[in-house]
Amino acid sequence: MQQDVIIIGAGVIGLATAEQLLLQGAKVTLIERNEVGLESSWAGGGILSPLCPWDYSDDVNRLSQYSAQLFPQWTSNLYKASGTDPEYLISGMKILSFVDKKIIEDWRLQYPTKIKYLATSHTDTHLNKKHNPGNQDQENNSSILMPDIAQVRNPRLLKSLHISVLQLGGKIIENCVVNQINIRNHNVHSLTTAQGQIFADYYVISAGAWSKTLLGSHALGIDIKPIKGQMLLFKFNEPPITNILIKDDVYVIPRQDGHLLVGSTIEDVGFNKKTTITARNNLMQKAREILPSLDKMPIIKQWAGLRPATKKNSPYIGRHSTLSNLFINAGHFRYGIVMAPASAEILTNEITNHSQKIDISPYQPGSAFRTELQ
Ligand SMILES: Cc1cc2nc3c(=O)[nH]c(=O)nc-3n(C[C@H](O)[C@H](O)[C@H](O)COP(=O)(O)OP(=O)(O)OC[C@H]3O[C@@H](n4cnc5c(N)ncnc54)[C@H](O)[C@@H]3O)c2cc1C
Repeated sequence: MQQDVIIIGAGVIGLATAEQLLLQGAKVTLIERNEVGLESSWAGGGILSPLCPWDYSDDVNRLSQYSAQLFPQWTSNLYKASGTDPEYLISGMKILSFVDKKIIEDWRLQYPTKIKYLATSHTDTHLNKKHNPGNQDQENNSSILMPDIAQVRNPRLLKSLHISVLQLGGKIIENCVVNQINIRNHNVHSLTTAQGQIFADYYVISAGAWSKTLLGSHALGIDIKPIKGQMLLFKFNEPPITNILIKDDVYVIPRQDGHLLVGSTIEDVGFNKKTTITARNNLMQKAREILPSLDKMPIIKQWAGLRPATKKNSPYIGRHSTLSNLFINAGHFRYGIVMAPASAEILTNEITNHSQKIDISPYQPGSAFRTELQ
Protein backbone atom coordinates (compact mmCIF):
# COMPACT_ATOMS: atom_id res chain seq x y z
CA MET A 1 0.00 0.00 0.00
CA GLN A 2 1.55 3.29 -1.12
CA GLN A 3 -0.96 5.85 0.12
CA ASP A 4 -0.61 8.44 2.87
CA VAL A 5 -2.91 7.97 5.83
CA ILE A 6 -3.54 10.49 8.59
CA ILE A 7 -4.90 9.11 11.86
CA ILE A 8 -6.47 11.56 14.30
CA GLY A 9 -6.01 10.53 17.95
CA ALA A 10 -3.14 8.55 19.46
CA GLY A 11 -4.91 6.38 22.02
CA VAL A 12 -4.73 2.60 21.83
CA ILE A 13 -7.04 2.53 18.80
CA GLY A 14 -5.13 5.12 16.77
CA LEU A 15 -1.75 3.59 17.66
CA ALA A 16 -2.84 0.01 16.91
CA THR A 17 -4.36 1.14 13.60
CA ALA A 18 -1.17 3.01 12.72
CA GLU A 19 0.92 -0.09 13.48
CA GLN A 20 -1.23 -2.33 11.25
CA LEU A 21 -1.25 0.15 8.36
CA LEU A 22 2.52 0.62 8.59
CA LEU A 23 2.96 -3.16 8.46
CA GLN A 24 0.98 -3.05 5.19
CA GLY A 25 3.39 -0.47 3.78
CA ALA A 26 1.27 2.67 4.19
CA LYS A 27 2.81 6.02 5.04
CA VAL A 28 1.17 6.99 8.34
CA THR A 29 0.99 10.23 10.32
CA LEU A 30 -0.73 10.28 13.72
CA ILE A 31 -2.01 13.63 14.94
CA GLU A 32 -2.56 13.95 18.68
CA ARG A 33 -3.99 16.92 20.54
CA ASN A 34 -1.99 16.20 23.71
CA GLU A 35 0.74 13.62 24.13
CA VAL A 36 0.42 10.03 22.97
CA GLY A 37 -1.79 7.73 25.04
CA LEU A 38 -2.82 9.90 27.98
CA GLU A 39 -6.62 9.71 27.75
CA SER A 40 -9.04 6.79 28.15
CA SER A 41 -6.47 4.25 26.98
CA TRP A 42 -4.12 5.18 29.82
CA ALA A 43 -6.91 5.33 32.40
CA GLY A 44 -8.38 1.89 31.78
CA GLY A 45 -7.96 -1.36 33.67
CA GLY A 46 -6.62 -3.55 30.87
CA ILE A 47 -8.97 -6.50 31.46
CA LEU A 48 -9.14 -8.44 28.20
CA SER A 49 -12.84 -9.29 28.39
CA PRO A 50 -16.17 -7.61 29.04
CA LEU A 51 -16.86 -7.97 32.77
CA CYS A 52 -19.73 -10.50 32.60
CA PRO A 53 -19.70 -11.28 28.87
CA TRP A 54 -23.08 -13.07 28.88
CA ASP A 55 -24.68 -9.70 29.71
CA TYR A 56 -23.44 -8.25 26.40
CA SER A 57 -24.61 -8.37 22.80
CA ASP A 58 -23.18 -10.65 20.12
CA ASP A 59 -21.54 -7.59 18.57
CA VAL A 60 -19.49 -7.04 21.73
CA ASN A 61 -18.77 -10.73 22.33
CA ARG A 62 -17.76 -11.54 18.76
CA LEU A 63 -15.27 -8.69 18.47
CA SER A 64 -13.84 -8.95 21.99
CA GLN A 65 -13.35 -12.73 21.81
CA TYR A 66 -11.75 -12.57 18.38
CA SER A 67 -9.51 -9.71 19.53
CA ALA A 68 -8.54 -11.28 22.88
CA GLN A 69 -7.02 -14.28 21.12
CA LEU A 70 -4.73 -11.96 19.11
CA PHE A 71 -3.09 -10.64 22.29
CA PRO A 72 -0.44 -13.28 23.09
CA GLN A 73 1.21 -12.91 19.67
CA TRP A 74 0.61 -9.17 19.41
CA THR A 75 2.04 -8.29 22.83
CA SER A 76 4.97 -10.66 22.38
CA ASN A 77 5.82 -8.99 19.04
CA LEU A 78 5.46 -5.55 20.63
CA TYR A 79 7.75 -6.55 23.51
CA LYS A 80 10.39 -7.85 21.09
CA ALA A 81 10.19 -4.77 18.86
CA SER A 82 10.06 -2.12 21.57
CA GLY A 83 11.85 -3.61 24.58
CA THR A 84 8.84 -2.60 26.71
CA ASP A 85 6.76 -5.43 28.15
CA PRO A 86 2.97 -4.76 27.96
CA GLU A 87 2.67 -7.37 30.77
CA TYR A 88 0.15 -9.64 29.10
CA LEU A 89 -0.85 -11.94 31.96
CA ILE A 90 -3.42 -14.71 32.12
CA SER A 91 -4.57 -13.91 35.62
CA GLY A 92 -8.08 -15.38 35.46
CA MET A 93 -11.22 -13.46 36.41
CA LYS A 94 -13.37 -14.40 39.37
CA ILE A 95 -16.95 -13.15 39.50
CA LEU A 96 -18.33 -12.97 43.02
CA SER A 97 -21.83 -11.84 42.10
CA PHE A 98 -24.81 -14.14 41.96
CA VAL A 99 -24.75 -15.90 38.64
CA ASP A 100 -27.44 -17.69 36.70
CA LYS A 101 -25.82 -20.92 35.56
CA LYS A 102 -28.34 -21.40 32.75
CA ILE A 103 -27.61 -17.99 31.22
CA ILE A 104 -23.88 -18.68 31.38
CA GLU A 105 -24.20 -22.17 29.89
CA ASP A 106 -26.40 -20.84 27.04
CA TRP A 107 -23.78 -18.16 26.33
CA ARG A 108 -21.01 -20.75 26.44
CA LEU A 109 -22.67 -22.78 23.68
CA GLN A 110 -21.93 -19.87 21.35
CA TYR A 111 -18.70 -18.65 22.93
CA PRO A 112 -16.80 -21.67 24.24
CA THR A 113 -14.92 -20.47 27.33
CA LYS A 114 -13.47 -22.31 30.33
CA ILE A 115 -15.56 -21.69 33.45
CA LYS A 116 -15.25 -23.19 36.93
CA TYR A 117 -18.19 -22.95 39.33
CA LEU A 118 -16.74 -22.41 42.78
CA ALA A 119 -17.89 -23.00 46.32
CA THR A 120 -18.54 -19.71 48.08
CA SER A 121 -15.19 -18.14 48.94
CA HIS A 122 -14.15 -16.12 51.98
CA THR A 123 -14.49 -12.94 49.97
CA ASP A 124 -18.13 -13.48 49.08
CA THR A 125 -19.57 -15.41 52.08
CA HIS A 126 -20.67 -12.26 53.81
CA LEU A 127 -22.11 -10.83 50.58
CA ASN A 128 -24.12 -13.95 49.80
CA LYS A 129 -25.73 -13.84 53.23
CA LYS A 130 -26.40 -10.15 53.09
CA HIS A 131 -27.88 -9.97 49.60
CA ASN A 132 -29.59 -13.28 49.23
CA PRO A 133 -30.45 -14.58 52.70
CA GLY A 134 -33.24 -16.95 51.72
CA ASN A 135 -31.77 -18.46 48.59
CA GLN A 136 -29.62 -21.50 49.17
CA ASP A 137 -29.73 -22.55 45.51
CA GLN A 138 -26.09 -23.30 44.72
CA GLU A 139 -26.91 -23.55 40.99
CA ASN A 140 -27.46 -19.81 40.88
CA ASN A 141 -25.43 -18.73 43.82
CA SER A 142 -21.84 -19.73 43.38
CA SER A 143 -18.90 -17.60 42.37
CA ILE A 144 -17.26 -18.46 39.11
CA LEU A 145 -13.72 -18.42 37.81
CA MET A 146 -12.87 -17.79 34.16
CA PRO A 147 -9.27 -19.02 34.31
CA ASP A 148 -8.24 -17.95 30.79
CA ILE A 149 -9.10 -14.25 31.06
CA ALA A 150 -5.99 -12.10 30.75
CA GLN A 151 -4.95 -8.51 31.40
CA VAL A 152 -2.38 -6.03 30.11
CA ARG A 153 -0.86 -2.99 31.75
CA ASN A 154 -2.20 -0.05 29.78
CA PRO A 155 0.66 2.48 30.10
CA ARG A 156 3.14 -0.22 29.06
CA LEU A 157 1.02 -1.39 26.13
CA LEU A 158 0.80 2.24 24.96
CA LYS A 159 4.55 2.80 25.38
CA SER A 160 5.39 -0.34 23.41
CA LEU A 161 2.94 0.66 20.66
CA HIS A 162 4.33 4.19 20.55
CA ILE A 163 7.90 2.91 20.12
CA SER A 164 6.84 0.32 17.52
CA VAL A 165 4.96 2.88 15.42
CA LEU A 166 8.03 5.13 15.33
CA GLN A 167 10.29 2.16 14.54
CA LEU A 168 8.05 1.20 11.64
CA GLY A 169 8.49 4.68 10.20
CA GLY A 170 5.28 6.28 11.44
CA LYS A 171 5.26 10.00 12.11
CA ILE A 172 3.59 11.30 15.26
CA ILE A 173 2.66 14.96 15.68
CA GLU A 174 1.82 15.72 19.31
CA ASN A 175 0.25 18.83 20.83
CA CYS A 176 -1.60 19.47 17.57
CA VAL A 177 -5.39 19.63 17.72
CA VAL A 178 -7.39 18.91 14.56
CA ASN A 179 -9.98 21.68 14.44
CA GLN A 180 -11.82 20.99 11.22
CA ILE A 181 -12.36 18.43 8.48
CA ASN A 182 -12.49 20.14 5.07
CA ILE A 183 -14.65 18.48 2.41
CA ARG A 184 -14.53 18.71 -1.39
CA ASN A 185 -16.52 16.48 -3.80
CA HIS A 186 -17.60 13.89 -1.19
CA ASN A 187 -14.01 13.47 -0.03
CA VAL A 188 -11.96 14.83 2.80
CA HIS A 189 -9.72 17.36 1.11
CA SER A 190 -7.62 18.38 4.14
CA LEU A 191 -7.58 18.91 7.88
CA THR A 192 -7.26 22.28 9.55
CA THR A 193 -4.97 21.78 12.55
CA ALA A 194 -3.20 23.94 15.11
CA GLN A 195 -0.11 23.59 12.90
CA GLY A 196 -1.80 24.47 9.60
CA GLN A 197 -3.50 22.47 6.84
CA ILE A 198 -2.57 18.80 6.43
CA PHE A 199 -3.33 16.58 3.42
CA ALA A 200 -3.44 12.80 2.86
CA ASP A 201 -5.06 10.16 0.66
CA TYR A 202 -7.01 8.61 3.54
CA TYR A 203 -8.08 9.90 6.95
CA VAL A 204 -8.97 7.87 10.05
CA ILE A 205 -10.82 9.24 13.05
CA SER A 206 -9.81 7.48 16.26
CA ALA A 207 -10.39 10.39 18.59
CA GLY A 208 -12.17 8.33 21.27
CA ALA A 209 -14.87 10.22 23.16
CA TRP A 210 -14.18 13.33 21.04
CA SER A 211 -14.86 11.64 17.68
CA LYS A 212 -18.44 12.87 17.26
CA THR A 213 -17.46 16.45 18.12
CA LEU A 214 -14.69 16.30 15.53
CA LEU A 215 -17.04 14.91 12.87
CA GLY A 216 -19.50 17.74 13.53
CA SER A 217 -22.16 17.85 10.82
CA HIS A 218 -20.57 14.78 9.18
CA ALA A 219 -21.38 12.53 12.16
CA LEU A 220 -24.47 11.21 10.29
CA GLY A 221 -25.84 8.96 13.01
CA ILE A 222 -22.47 8.21 14.58
CA ASP A 223 -23.30 8.75 18.18
CA ILE A 224 -20.34 8.78 20.56
CA LYS A 225 -20.32 10.43 23.96
CA PRO A 226 -18.00 10.49 26.98
CA ILE A 227 -18.77 8.32 30.00
CA LYS A 228 -16.45 9.03 32.92
CA GLY A 229 -14.77 6.19 34.80
CA GLN A 230 -12.79 6.70 38.01
CA MET A 231 -10.12 4.35 39.33
CA LEU A 232 -8.06 3.94 42.52
CA LEU A 233 -4.52 2.63 42.81
CA PHE A 234 -2.90 0.77 45.73
CA LYS A 235 0.55 -0.75 46.20
CA PHE A 236 1.24 -3.96 48.13
CA ASN A 237 4.71 -5.47 48.60
CA GLU A 238 3.50 -8.54 46.73
CA PRO A 239 0.25 -9.19 44.82
CA PRO A 240 -2.34 -9.99 47.55
CA ILE A 241 -4.46 -11.96 45.04
CA THR A 242 -3.82 -13.67 41.73
CA ASN A 243 -7.20 -13.37 39.97
CA ILE A 244 -9.05 -10.26 38.84
CA LEU A 245 -12.03 -10.08 41.24
CA ILE A 246 -15.41 -8.64 40.30
CA LYS A 247 -18.43 -7.98 42.46
CA ASP A 248 -21.36 -6.24 40.80
CA ASP A 249 -19.99 -3.06 39.24
CA VAL A 250 -16.61 -3.00 41.00
CA TYR A 251 -13.43 -4.88 40.12
CA VAL A 252 -9.98 -5.33 41.61
CA ILE A 253 -7.02 -5.97 39.30
CA PRO A 254 -3.71 -7.24 40.70
CA ARG A 255 -0.56 -6.30 38.76
CA GLN A 256 2.55 -8.46 39.00
CA ASP A 257 4.60 -5.92 40.98
CA GLY A 258 2.03 -5.51 43.79
CA HIS A 259 0.14 -2.54 42.33
CA LEU A 260 -3.59 -3.07 42.56
CA LEU A 261 -6.31 -1.18 40.69
CA VAL A 262 -9.89 -0.70 41.83
CA GLY A 263 -12.47 0.43 39.30
CA SER A 264 -14.63 1.90 38.15
CA THR A 265 -17.48 4.36 38.15
CA ILE A 266 -19.83 4.93 35.20
CA GLU A 267 -20.77 8.61 35.10
CA ASP A 268 -22.65 10.47 32.38
CA VAL A 269 -21.25 13.96 33.11
CA GLY A 270 -19.95 15.20 29.77
CA PHE A 271 -16.30 16.05 29.15
CA ASN A 272 -15.51 16.32 32.84
CA LYS A 273 -12.52 14.36 34.12
CA LYS A 274 -12.46 15.62 37.70
CA THR A 275 -12.08 12.95 40.38
CA THR A 276 -14.52 13.05 43.29
CA ILE A 277 -14.53 12.10 46.96
CA THR A 278 -17.91 10.40 46.52
CA ALA A 279 -16.51 8.06 43.87
CA ARG A 280 -13.46 7.36 45.99
CA ASN A 281 -15.57 6.46 49.03
CA ASN A 282 -17.98 4.27 47.04
CA LEU A 283 -15.21 2.40 45.25
CA MET A 284 -13.29 1.99 48.49
CA GLN A 285 -16.29 0.64 50.38
CA LYS A 286 -17.14 -1.93 47.71
CA ALA A 287 -13.50 -2.89 47.16
CA ARG A 288 -13.04 -3.57 50.90
CA GLU A 289 -15.95 -6.03 50.73
CA ILE A 290 -14.19 -7.84 47.91
CA LEU A 291 -10.72 -7.65 49.43
CA PRO A 292 -10.77 -6.89 53.17
CA SER A 293 -6.98 -6.35 53.31
CA LEU A 294 -7.51 -3.07 51.42
CA ASP A 295 -8.83 -1.66 54.68
CA LYS A 296 -5.38 -0.67 55.95
CA MET A 297 -3.92 0.39 52.63
CA PRO A 298 -3.54 4.02 51.55
CA ILE A 299 -4.83 5.08 48.14
CA ILE A 300 -1.74 6.14 46.21
CA LYS A 301 -3.54 7.61 43.21
CA GLN A 302 -7.04 8.35 41.90
CA TRP A 303 -7.80 9.25 38.30
CA ALA A 304 -10.59 9.44 35.74
CA GLY A 305 -10.87 8.73 32.04
CA LEU A 306 -13.57 9.34 29.43
CA ARG A 307 -14.78 6.18 27.72
CA PRO A 308 -16.11 6.61 24.18
CA ALA A 309 -19.66 5.26 24.57
CA THR A 310 -22.15 4.57 21.78
CA LYS A 311 -25.90 4.06 21.93
CA LYS A 312 -25.63 0.68 20.21
CA ASN A 313 -22.92 -0.28 22.72
CA SER A 314 -20.39 -1.40 20.11
CA PRO A 315 -17.80 0.55 18.11
CA TYR A 316 -17.88 2.07 14.63
CA ILE A 317 -15.16 0.58 12.43
CA GLY A 318 -15.08 1.23 8.71
CA ARG A 319 -15.66 3.70 5.91
CA HIS A 320 -17.74 6.82 6.52
CA SER A 321 -21.12 6.53 4.82
CA THR A 322 -20.75 9.54 2.47
CA LEU A 323 -17.08 10.63 2.53
CA SER A 324 -15.22 7.94 0.67
CA ASN A 325 -11.66 8.54 1.92
CA LEU A 326 -12.70 8.95 5.57
CA PHE A 327 -12.66 6.01 7.98
CA ILE A 328 -13.80 5.72 11.60
CA ASN A 329 -12.36 3.55 14.37
CA ALA A 330 -14.03 4.80 17.52
CA GLY A 331 -16.69 4.20 20.15
CA HIS A 332 -15.16 1.22 21.99
CA PHE A 333 -16.68 2.20 25.36
CA ARG A 334 -15.58 -0.28 28.07
CA TYR A 335 -13.73 -2.68 25.76
CA GLY A 336 -11.28 -0.54 23.76
CA ILE A 337 -8.18 -2.28 25.08
CA VAL A 338 -9.42 -5.80 24.43
CA MET A 339 -10.86 -4.81 21.04
CA ALA A 340 -7.81 -2.84 19.86
CA PRO A 341 -5.87 -5.40 17.75
CA ALA A 342 -9.00 -6.70 15.99
CA SER A 343 -10.35 -3.18 15.38
CA ALA A 344 -7.00 -2.18 13.87
CA GLU A 345 -6.98 -5.29 11.69
CA ILE A 346 -10.57 -4.69 10.50
CA LEU A 347 -9.94 -1.06 9.62
CA THR A 348 -6.70 -1.88 7.81
CA ASN A 349 -8.49 -4.58 5.79
CA GLU A 350 -11.19 -2.05 4.90
CA ILE A 351 -8.68 0.53 3.64
CA THR A 352 -6.57 -2.04 1.78
CA ASN A 353 -9.59 -3.96 0.42
CA HIS A 354 -8.67 -7.24 2.05
CA SER A 355 -11.26 -9.77 3.20
CA GLN A 356 -12.36 -9.77 6.82
CA LYS A 357 -12.08 -12.68 9.24
CA ILE A 358 -15.32 -11.93 11.11
CA ASP A 359 -18.66 -10.40 10.16
CA ILE A 360 -18.05 -6.66 10.39
CA SER A 361 -21.45 -5.41 9.28
CA PRO A 362 -22.59 -4.44 12.81
CA TYR A 363 -19.61 -2.10 13.19
CA GLN A 364 -19.87 -0.28 9.87
CA PRO A 365 -20.61 3.46 10.16
CA GLY A 366 -23.03 3.15 7.22
CA SER A 367 -25.47 1.16 9.34
CA ALA A 368 -25.74 4.12 11.75
CA PHE A 369 -26.51 6.46 8.87
CA ARG A 370 -29.20 4.14 7.47
CA THR A 371 -30.80 3.88 10.92
CA GLU A 372 -30.87 7.67 11.22
CA LEU A 373 -32.54 8.03 7.81
CA GLN A 374 -35.32 5.59 8.73
C1 LIG B 1 -11.79 3.75 34.02
C2 LIG B 1 -11.74 2.97 32.73
C3 LIG B 1 -11.56 1.60 32.78
C4 LIG B 1 -11.48 0.86 31.59
N1 LIG B 1 -11.21 -0.48 31.66
C5 LIG B 1 -11.07 -1.19 30.50
C6 LIG B 1 -10.70 -2.56 30.54
O1 LIG B 1 -10.45 -3.12 31.61
N2 LIG B 1 -10.62 -3.24 29.37
C7 LIG B 1 -10.85 -2.65 28.16
O2 LIG B 1 -10.77 -3.32 27.12
N3 LIG B 1 -11.21 -1.33 28.10
C8 LIG B 1 -11.31 -0.60 29.23
N4 LIG B 1 -11.66 0.74 29.19
C9 LIG B 1 -12.05 1.31 27.90
C10 LIG B 1 -10.85 1.68 27.06
O3 LIG B 1 -9.87 2.30 27.86
C11 LIG B 1 -11.31 2.60 25.92
O4 LIG B 1 -12.36 2.00 25.20
C12 LIG B 1 -10.16 2.87 24.97
O5 LIG B 1 -9.06 3.39 25.66
C13 LIG B 1 -10.57 3.83 23.86
O6 LIG B 1 -9.40 4.11 23.13
P1 LIG B 1 -9.35 5.29 22.08
O7 LIG B 1 -8.01 5.25 21.46
O8 LIG B 1 -10.55 5.21 21.20
O9 LIG B 1 -9.58 6.61 22.96
P2 LIG B 1 -8.54 7.53 23.78
O10 LIG B 1 -7.55 6.73 24.52
O11 LIG B 1 -9.36 8.49 24.55
O12 LIG B 1 -7.74 8.28 22.64
C14 LIG B 1 -8.31 9.27 21.82
C15 LIG B 1 -7.23 10.29 21.53
O13 LIG B 1 -7.70 11.23 20.58
C16 LIG B 1 -7.17 12.49 20.90
N5 LIG B 1 -7.99 13.53 20.27
C17 LIG B 1 -9.30 13.79 20.52
N6 LIG B 1 -9.74 14.80 19.74
C18 LIG B 1 -8.68 15.20 18.98
C19 LIG B 1 -8.49 16.21 18.00
N7 LIG B 1 -9.49 17.03 17.63
N8 LIG B 1 -7.27 16.36 17.43
C20 LIG B 1 -6.23 15.55 17.78
N9 LIG B 1 -6.36 14.57 18.72
C21 LIG B 1 -7.57 14.39 19.31
C22 LIG B 1 -7.23 12.52 22.43
O14 LIG B 1 -6.35 13.49 22.98
C23 LIG B 1 -6.84 11.08 22.76
O15 LIG B 1 -5.44 10.94 23.01
C24 LIG B 1 -11.68 1.51 30.34
C25 LIG B 1 -11.84 2.89 30.31
C26 LIG B 1 -11.85 3.63 31.49
C27 LIG B 1 -11.98 5.13 31.42
